[in-house]
Amino acid sequence: MIPIISKLPQAGTTIFTVMSALANELGAINLSQGFPDYETSPELIELVNQAMKNGHNQYAPMAGLMSLREAISRKTEKLYGAIYNPDTEITITAGGTQAIFTAITAAINPNDEVIIFEPAFDCYAPAIKLAGGIVKSLELEPPDYRIRWDMVKRLINNRTKMIILNSPHNPTATILHRQDIDELSAIVKNQDILILSDEVYEHLIYDGETHQSMARYPELQKRSFIIASFGKPFHATGWKVGYCMAPAALMQEFRKIHQFLVFSVNAPMQFAIAEYLKNEDTYLSLPSFFQQKRDYFRKGLENSRFEILPCSGSYFQSVRYSNITDEKDSDFAMRLAREIGVASIPVSAFYSKGNDHHVLRFCFAKKQETLDKAVDRLIKV
Ligand code: GLN
Repeated sequence: MIPIISKLPQAGTTIFTVMSALANELGAINLSQGFPDYETSPELIELVNQAMKNGHNQYAPMAGLMSLREAISRKTEKLYGAIYNPDTEITITAGGTQAIFTAITAAINPNDEVIIFEPAFDCYAPAIKLAGGIVKSLELEPPDYRIRWDMVKRLINNRTKMIILNSPHNPTATILHRQDIDELSAIVKNQDILILSDEVYEHLIYDGETHQSMARYPELQKRSFIIASFGKPFHATGWKVGYCMAPAALMQEFRKIHQFLVFSVNAPMQFAIAEYLKNEDTYLSLPSFFQQKRDYFRKGLENSRFEILPCSGSYFQSVRYSNITDEKDSDFAMRLAREIGVASIPVSAFYSKGNDHHVLRFCFAKKQETLDKAVDRLIKV
């Protein structure tokens, strides 16, 4: 065996893969990894079939199909008022994770500092480290996981290159509010600080709240890579199609990496999604669709001993279980999967230091009968 020096010596297999594999092995209800257990729209599937039958089976353009980029540009202008040039400012990616990796690789040089908020989605820190950057994490705490902007201010120095934001937030289901935007704007004004804004849950936002996209605010938009996904809104996480939007100068560097990482993204899905996006109800109907699931799951859990934490967006519901046991969250999550047959994600997995606030994350993007079965089991704990 010829040894190689690990680039990510601390990394194991992601918690999503671990917990989904465990759920499959045990036949447990899988509320761990975030994906729906119901089908995507038959119309969308038919559009993919048609695209394949119509011969769209060769490479798509490197930056993505123009009709899809145009559809994204129209949608972004309509929803958030920003104008992105589809030719130079939008690139279709193989999902959100690839877009995040590509943006970080393009923007971060050795010793650049990147501020992230923990619990953080697990692909941010590895991408920063692989680029030679330094992760500066700020820890957020339950139940409300609010960003303390005075602490952010203290972390800023002349090496700070990027702040990574994620709203609606995975795993905590919190969202940025207008006040956060004001504080952020004051901090980055007149500084050479980029923003990577992971907005893959942009359409999963509840109680009539507004999605605070960076695209709404010119001062923030001009320094942002905005990451979005079609997997979440269109119930097709397995298709791995997402996109990145950024001002042309940033996007030019993004594409230099993208072309050597994936070159281009599968063509038939791009044709289908471009067509499907013509009907804006496909995404405007999502808040009420998912809010109904959120409310149903929360109502069911009211009869349990779990403390139900706030959920303003995303398809995740976190619960605190300090009333039930002192076990570590990873141990408790394993035991719940084995003994009661419900798989979840222990939120300590999203903290680099493994902070354990006794919180588990459940995905509620499931059929009503799946939620019923899960609740029946969880109320017995
Ligand atoms: N975004 C999904 C989640 O949080 C899954 C991501 C993944 O498996 N890489 O569960």
